[in-house]
Amino acid sequence: MASQLPIVVIGGGTAGCTVVSTLAAMTSQPIVLVEPGVSSSHDDESKFFDVLANGELSRDVQTTLVDGGEDKPYVQAQVLGGGSAINGLLLTGEEPPFLRGLTRMATEADCGQVGTALLAENGRFSRLWWNGGRWNPGRAVQHLVEEGRVTVIAESATYLEYAQRVITVAHTTNEAIEGSLFIMCAGALATPALLLHSSLERAVSGIGDGLQNHPTITFSVQLKKQTAQRFDSTVVRESLSSAGAQLLTVAYERTNAADATNGLISVSLMDPESRGGVWRSSTAMQNDFNMLATIRDRVAMREAVRELISTVMGASFAAISERVLVDSEGTTVEALDVMKNSDLDEWISTHLAVVSHATSSCRDIVEADGKVRGVGNLYIADSSILHSVPTCSPAGPVVIEAARIGRAIGETLK
Ligand SMILES: Cc1cc2nc3c(=O)[nH]c(=O)nc-3n(C[C@H](O)[C@H](O)[C@H](O)COP(=O)(O)OP(=O)(O)OC[C@H]3O[C@@H](n4cnc5c(N)ncnc54)[C@H](O)[C@@H]3O)c2cc1C
Repeated sequence: MASQLPIVVIGGGTAGCTVVSTLAAMTSQPIVLVEPGVSSSHDDESKFFDVLANGELSRDVQTTLVDGGEDKPYVQAQVLGGGSAINGLLLTGEEPPFLRGLTRMATEADCGQVGTALLAENGRFSRLWWNGGRWNPGRAVQHLVEEGRVTVIAESATYLEYAQRVITVAHTTNEAIEGSLFIMCAGALATPALLLHSSLERAVSGIGDGLQNHPTITFSVQLKKQTAQRFDSTVVRESLSSAGAQLLTVAYERTNAADATNGLISVSLMDPESRGGVWRSSTAMQNDFNMLATIRDRVAMREAVRELISTVMGASFAAISERVLVDSEGTTVEALDVMKNSDLDEWISTHLAVVSHATSSCRDIVEADGKVRGVGNLYIADSSILHSVPTCSPAGPVVIEAARIGRAIGETLK
């Protein structure tokens, strides 16, 4: 009889919960999920800033956005369901076909004044990870745990034991978990960090290479009056730079859960060329997104910011805003508008906002089915294996890939 050692999934986020549910439907082998985060009780809250305000569901990881730049905090989900339990609810790309009916398009009734102003500037309603409640894959896993089908170890994995070309044990501070298969789903920053902690770079080259994210600039819109609306963000606008780079503008009705006097508007470069990495220095794990490292990316981002300036200086935003500030030092959009290109480029690189869209840090080390090259029983199924950061909001491609890899692994167990 085949070994009854469990399948061990490390990280119960968007990908990890998708993999666990997929495998639970395909095999009777025991499944152990290693996930330090708790279950969220916020899946009925439509305003994502209220969910994010619960600091128990995430933690900050220090990241560098541009080479040589200051470290900034990256919000990393730490909750069953991962990013899908706390994300901004925007699904700007296609709905994954197997989630039909669990997401829906935003409507006028969901939208506030900042979204309405962007609609008037060629914006469109986005699809939402919402239909009567948040789509959170952690809920399905919670049911599997209650049914005794899946066991959760509520701790962080610290390293994997590797011997004779296979992984034998996953360690947490208090547990040593033997397994038959190990599936990494700790996200694009933690998955390569764990593999490096496990000294796997001796067996696998390229761990951590290729890390990407969306370079983003955010302005604060000081509102003339406060209004109440159902969602914090429902309207987006796609556009192209002169060289065809893909840009996404997003409207937010508030700044955070405590401040409804200001809205936000952001623009992101959705198909950057620049790539960074995750690596181990002599003292600690480090990462650098290395954004805007190519001329094409710098020019695209400059054009994106000029387009954003023109949008917020137009009639639709003038009607709702007292003024628009572009940074925490109180610089007005008018001051940014008159900057020459070289000064604007410098301003952009120091004022990039951090969005939690990290991907691609393990893309070079896996086969098409997620199997790590050269290691017999190790797979990766999270955002770290996407070839590039998606040109849409990232959770959709992450879910599609995780389900595909889960099914491929499930087939091997039949
Ligand atoms: C604040 C925020 C807003 C976002 N907004 C949107 C949006 O509007 N639309 C969209 O499509 N996408 C959005 N995203 C991005 C999207 O959620 C991510 O791309 C997606 O969740 C990544 O999935 P993942 O499984 O790779 O990682 P995650 O979902 O982050 O899951 C990783 C899991 O691994 C666990 N983990 C980490 N280290 C360890 C360890 N050592 N041992 C065990 N477990 C570990 C973490 O606790 C976490 O639960 C947002 C993300 C965040 C954080």
